[in-house]
Amino acid sequence: MFLSVAYPAVAYDRYLGLVPPETTEELLSIADELKELRIVHLNSTAIGGGVAEILQSLVPLTTGLGIATERIVINPPPQFFQVTKRIHNLLQGAEGTLSPKELEIYFQSIQNVAEDLRRRHVFADAWFLHDPQLLPMARLLPREFDETWIWICHIDLTTPNRGVLDTLLPLTKDYDRLIFSLESYVPDGLGETPSIFIAPPAIDPLAVKNIPLDRDRALKLVAAMGVDPDRPLVTQVSRFDLWKDPWGVIDAFRLARESVPGLQLGLLGLSQAADDPEALDVVASVTEHAAGDPDIHIYFDAVGLPTTIDEVVNAFQVASEVVIQKSLREGFGLTVTEGMWKGKAVLGGNVGGIRIQIENGVTGYLVDSSEECASRIVELMQDPDLRSRMGEAAREAVRERFLMPSLALDYLKVVKAHVMPPSVSAPSQNGYRATKKHALA
Ligand code: UDP
Repeated sequence: MFLSVAYPAVAYDRYLGLVPPETTEELLSIADELKELRIVHLNSTAIGGGVAEILQSLVPLTTGLGIATERIVINPPPQFFQVTKRIHNLLQGAEGTLSPKELEIYFQSIQNVAEDLRRRHVFADAWFLHDPQLLPMARLLPREFDETWIWICHIDLTTPNRGVLDTLLPLTKDYDRLIFSLESYVPDGLGETPSIFIAPPAIDPLAVKNIPLDRDRALKLVAAMGVDPDRPLVTQVSRFDLWKDPWGVIDAFRLARESVPGLQLGLLGLSQAADDPEALDVVASVTEHAAGDPDIHIYFDAVGLPTTIDEVVNAFQVASEVVIQKSLREGFGLTVTEGMWKGKAVLGGNVGGIRIQIENGVTGYLVDSSEECASRIVELMQDPDLRSRMGEAAREAVRERFLMPSLALDYLKVVKAHVMPPSVSAPSQNGYRATKKHALA
């Protein structure tokens, strides 16, 4: 019903010099206070998508800070993912309702995981439950100790389907703390409790996807995948998903190419999440929209890549003159952060989390349509100085706010706000340390 993913600890020293010293100082101090705690993160997919991306870096980082951190990935039946993909779409604004059968699959699948967790004696001082997939867990897993329950909502709740939101919101009452990526995602109707925190996601500068990659190697890798390294390239890296608007990217590319001869487009969706059953339909439709254009490179199959998926993503972002993320809804948009960290001017859809990352005209451009996206591509392609100025400002903005140690700090602050450091508690038999609930000022 679930699988525990083990990671070796990463020594924090490796982040020194990459993040602002104030972040490091605060993080080391809070980690020291909380180091007796045991933290468990639960999410619904081992790879693919932003949450998986975050957890594979966050867990080794906090482990390296001396806090025992475990990552658990649930392993429900495929029908669960059909339902949760619908829930995801509905919460991001799609029309429709959830049928009693769908709700039963949703609750029953989580109930099975909850029973399994207790059967296998998994305990924690602080539980981080990620996204709507895991939302019912706090209700279904009986509390045996004074555990802290935190639900993290990574999705864009700006214009949710109200009926579905109202069905699910009562489940938040079983949590001690809720975390949203942005202030504007906090839905109406949560009431006074539980306390709400805002913690935007982050990228890992030590990950293969984000470490410095020599431009020559990047060009070699994209060339090995069929891109002409001597002609300009723009890329969108995204799961093939309705909200990422790959069709709109193609439209923008076609318009821009009229003014930028030889322009090429890369659409990369290599790491499809296991919880995304719609992806293949989207790929088929996008391929049809590309109509066999030899300069539109669509990648959705990881078989036969010249290197790892992560290095391929890095290579496309480095080799591109402009990085695009033309989403119509976006909880945060790690691909925007990744492009900015590589010193690229990023064109992002003017929605959700992209808006808090891109300062329009300074660290990239926000676009509202394919036409606008096309004209910004042309402007940037014709002005290399503007590209490099924006790219530098973009990298600095990420360094200040969106690297993994900042996110680790935010999460630990949420834990600290709820538990008292365990200097006053005694370890129990299974290694779990009962802690006193204590709201810190
Ligand atoms: N990603 C990847 N390979 C792909 C497509 C996406 O590794 O082919 C990664 C991407 O680099 C980013 C994450 O998946 O780190 C997507 O996160 P984001 O927040 O942009 O979107 P989400 O998929 O969570 O909606």
